[in-house]
Amino acid sequence: MPPAGRVALDTPVGYLKGVGPIRAEAFRKLGITKAGDLLFHIPHRYEDASTISPISSVDVGMDATIVGKVISKGVLPTRKGLRIFQAVIQDRSGMLEAAWPGQPFLDRSIDKGDVLLLSGPVRFYHGRQLAPREYVNFGPDDPGAAPGRVFAVYPATEGLTFRTIRSIIDAHLDQLLARTTDHLPRAVLQELSLPALPDALRMVHRPTSIREAERGRDRLALDELMFLQLLHRRAHALARTARRGIRFVNKKELTTKLKSELPFELTGAQVRVLREIFADMCGDRRMHRLLQGDVGSGKTIVALFAALLAYENGYQAAIMAPTELLAEQHHRTLRRLLAPLEIEPLLLTGSVKTKTRAPLEARLKTEEPVIAVGTHALVQTTTAFGKLGFVAIDEQHRFGVEQRAALAKKGQAPDVLLLSATPIPRSLALTVYGDLDVSTLDERPPGRRPVTTVLRRESGREKVLAFVRSQVEEGRQAYVVYPVIEESEKSDLKAATTMFEQLSAGAFAGLRVALLHGRIPADQRESIMRQFRDGEIDILVATTVIEVGIDVANATVMLIEHPERFGLSQLHQLRGRVGRGAESSYCILLGEAGQESMERLELFASTDDGFEIARADLRIRGMGDLFGQQQSGEAMLRIADLVRDEKLNVLAREAAGKTLAGDAGLEKPQNAGLKRALSARFPRALELFRVG
Ligand code: ADP
Ligand code: MG
Repeated sequence: MPPAGRVALDTPVGYLKGVGPIRAEAFRKLGITKAGDLLFHIPHRYEDASTISPISSVDVGMDATIVGKVISKGVLPTRKGLRIFQAVIQDRSGMLEAAWPGQPFLDRSIDKGDVLLLSGPVRFYHGRQLAPREYVNFGPDDPGAAPGRVFAVYPATEGLTFRTIRSIIDAHLDQLLARTTDHLPRAVLQELSLPALPDALRMVHRPTSIREAERGRDRLALDELMFLQLLHRRAHALARTARRGIRFVNKKELTTKLKSELPFELTGAQVRVLREIFADMCGDRRMHRLLQGDVGSGKTIVALFAALLAYENGYQAAIMAPTELLAEQHHRTLRRLLAPLEIEPLLLTGSVKTKTRAPLEARLKTEEPVIAVGTHALVQTTTAFGKLGFVAIDEQHRFGVEQRAALAKKGQAPDVLLLSATPIPRSLALTVYGDLDVSTLDERPPGRRPVTTVLRRESGREKVLAFVRSQVEEGRQAYVVYPVIEESEKSDLKAATTMFEQLSAGAFAGLRVALLHGRIPADQRESIMRQFRDGEIDILVATTVIEVGIDVANATVMLIEHPERFGLSQLHQLRGRVGRGAESSYCILLGEAGQESMERLELFASTDDGFEIARADLRIRGMGDLFGQQQSGEAMLRIADLVRDEKLNVLAREAAGKTLAGDAGLEKPQNAGLKRALSARFPRALELFRVG
């Protein structure tokens, strides 16, 4: 036990004054075992009592903070047996009654003549009456000039109220702060003009204003983000040095030829990302890069150029898609584009029959250069590559980590390019995708017609369905999408199965309507999609299985029911399924939605920018929801928020970069504190800094 009154950062909380074994157990549930942990138990909100109102100005309905003397007090019983402590408070401007229902014990600690600060709502009860949420008793001495307060409200748990937590933290704060030193080098702090750690902690726990509390929080958030960035950067750097790759040579033969044969000019963004990709591929290190770009930004052609670079260096290249249909589509595109170069791409999917498959597989086993397109069949154990040098994985989020790893393991050490259609701001992408390099296509090829997006209420249903019908009668095709497959008793959502029956018998009677959802066996699903592609089906009633990159130019209507049920990025992917041909296209969101959802959907209808949409999605649904808790690194953060703190994250990234640039292993004395703090926070982190 430490000497009485002496508290160290590692003193067990159970030893602190005011904390016994029972409270210690409750603290443990909050993740607090040592006194120092209290410092990082950060308020989740504040009660702002920093602006004091004269009593005469206080009105019923206001939330007010007043300071005055107790001129009378007492405990009143009520009819229901509840006892209320009441006091009349007076300042220079007037008098006001304050009432604390159910807290008769206050009569013992609040005396006539005491000066109180009170903060809470004012209601009408035989006159104005304030119900304090918070109060401070300054005792009988005049506290002088207006002593405004900001009260910290802490995350609490059973057996430990936020007030108890507050009084315990408050009682030990000064001692704990006196033992806290900053781990960030002074130069970094100065550059970012952020407060030193002890100051920041004081600001967060005992702020004099909300602004100050925010400033303190920012500093703590920056710490966390910087830790995360240091870990990412270090992991990234180690992974890169460890990954020796093939050194391709940019011969400018086939790639130049392809460029001149293209029916269009590459966009500036395509040229830029290709430069990034080629630089990787021609370097020593193995490429591990993510290419992100909005629907229709032209990712496929970029992947093709990269594949061609591998090919002209005598290597095999593979492009993997999540569905057979998409693989077939890519194969057709590649065939067309590669025809002038006299290269015949191979197609390998699950439904390619064993007979045709055997010679394909035999060919992959040789060291002959080839460009192969396929599904996960490409990674099946039976498929071996003789000389795999490049792999592109389309719609990467559709693949499990293992499947991606399996393909990357084939061959010696192929360069890997992952494609993603959910583009997010660069600073975020670099955090989310940790050890990947990131290239971004932020420009769309010219000439694409925007899709007209509209929101329609239930009352407009008949008109909407009639419009869909008229489009089909003009020879177009349509998708109708539902959030669920079947109706359930728990919800009154319209479901694909029932609506398929209802629509084919009603509004779409006589048209060729088909049903498509995830519970239909994969081969049947593919064959339905194929029929739709070939124009043998007019209307596809479906769930989001159609979300992934399929391209049917004749489809001009995307009707989505219960749109509030979908994430905005998902809606954007669905919308991307139309507007691919010469005809005008429409995305119709049909349903009743609450005010909040309506605003979200209106934002979606008003923009066609995938970045803006992903950002809004992130704000609303959070990182974990979009990318998975683990992948986003969000799980590691307690204070910072990757979306809200985007600017801090950029600063943290720069600061981490500079720190590591001068001292990759955090070996220098000025970084010793940082290294210690980092390993205290992330015990496994030190491993990363042991090597090199
Ligand atoms: P996504 O990024 O969604 O995968 P795709 O690669 O499927 O986009 O490209 C969408 C369409 O745009 C394709 O039809 C493709 O041929 C076309 N395209 C790609 N690049 C260009 C360009 N630079 N100019 C004109 N059209 C392009
Ligand atoms: Mg695509």
